[in-house]
Amino acid sequence: MTDTPLEFGDPSDLEQLRGEFRGWLAENPLPERGADEPVPVFLHRWHKQLHSGGWVGLDVPEEFGGRGLTTLHQVAISDELGAQQAPGVPRIGYLAQALLKFANDEQRRRLLPRMLAGDDVWCQGFSEPGAGSDLAGMSTVAEKRGDHYIVRGQKLWTSYAQYSNLCLLLARTDRDGVAHKSISAFILPLDRPGVTVRPLKAHNGDDEFCELFLDDVRIEESELIGNEGDGWPLAMTTVSYERNALDTGHLSKYGLLVERLRAVVGERGNDLPDGLRSEVGRCFVDYEGLVAHTRRRIAERIAGVEAPFDSSIDKLLMTRTEQRLYETAIKVLPEALYEDGNEVFAEYLYSRAASVYGGTSQIQRNIIAKRILRLPS
Ligand SMILES: Cc1cc2nc3c(=O)[nH]c(=O)nc-3n(C[C@H](O)[C@H](O)[C@H](O)COP(=O)(O)OP(=O)(O)OC[C@H]3O[C@@H](n4cnc5c(N)ncnc54)[C@H](O)[C@@H]3O)c2cc1C
Repeated sequence: MTDTPLEFGDPSDLEQLRGEFRGWLAENPLPERGADEPVPVFLHRWHKQLHSGGWVGLDVPEEFGGRGLTTLHQVAISDELGAQQAPGVPRIGYLAQALLKFANDEQRRRLLPRMLAGDDVWCQGFSEPGAGSDLAGMSTVAEKRGDHYIVRGQKLWTSYAQYSNLCLLLARTDRDGVAHKSISAFILPLDRPGVTVRPLKAHNGDDEFCELFLDDVRIEESELIGNEGDGWPLAMTTVSYERNALDTGHLSKYGLLVERLRAVVGERGNDLPDGLRSEVGRCFVDYEGLVAHTRRRIAERIAGVEAPFDSSIDKLLMTRTEQRLYETAIKVLPEALYEDGNEVFAEYLYSRAASVYGGTSQIQRNIIAKRILRLPS
């Protein structure tokens, strides 16, 4: 039996899968990151290693390069990775779901196996300087010219675009139409003439974000995903999976840190201020609440329950758990503040972004109020 948090009466083959994966991981451990190797390049190597073992896209149908298993199998592998403190598969779960749902058969057959294998690396070109929370207000335009489109505009916060070769791009195909009904989604190869990718340095020294300038970029009609106007539902599908707690190994990682903090309280309890002990208690309660919530959401997904707005609850709970946990950890574990390159401190810094990426916490509260609780605006 596993002591990882998502053990809750799994199908019989799940334990076997976890065992196989642990065996594989023991023989194919996380590689060393090179001294000057950028994190995305290192993660891409790890992605390819996982794929070579058959551990990417477990819940994607076999005809599109996956293993045709269930969400639960995919979650179990993410969970095992988190429990080993190993990074998960980078940034593809939610993109794969968008293609599965909206791309045509030819696009799915061509793009999904390459995405899962890491042969194509995708970024997400949604946000713009004037359109983040208000995504429907985007101003990038794709003008139809016979069998192709000409795209003009600017994207912002495009994570790791400089390490990607394809972009899932949103652009307006009807300037005069209703805002969210006139957005379309495209596959944009980043080496197209007219595309400029400019990385930006963040406060933690990472160059995760990029600006993307699109100056009269030609996109073929065959690179439109779905139909014109499908961009909004595609974007909502993408962010609902991005906001979802299930596809990450984060829970296991949080669980390990909560246990570490509890151990310190056990050893140094009387030396710690009362307030700090209570904070560790809150972290434990948040974590247990998130685990219970995630179990329910997994069960719903397996039962085929469509509850897209509930991903806003996932996102809020994850953000609260993660931010409180790392805030507490840097107070309880003094080395976090003094050690060069300390991982807990790095995670603390990154946790500040959780209330922004994939839609801010205020926007999640708006969605819960309007769409789930049906409160008047
Ligand atoms: C780490 C990270 C990675 C990211 N990666 C990508 C990526 O790969 N691709 C991509 O397209 N985008 C990416 N983003 C951008 C992200 O989606 C946006 O930052 C986010 O949607 C918020 O938009 P904004 O930054 O323009 O803030 P704004 O929309 O300008 O919001 C500013 C503030 O106003 C509040 N606010 C705005 N509207 C309302 C309202 N109606 N009610 C209440 N409060 C409101 C917001 O909550 C926020 O606090 C990333 C962001 C981060 C932090």
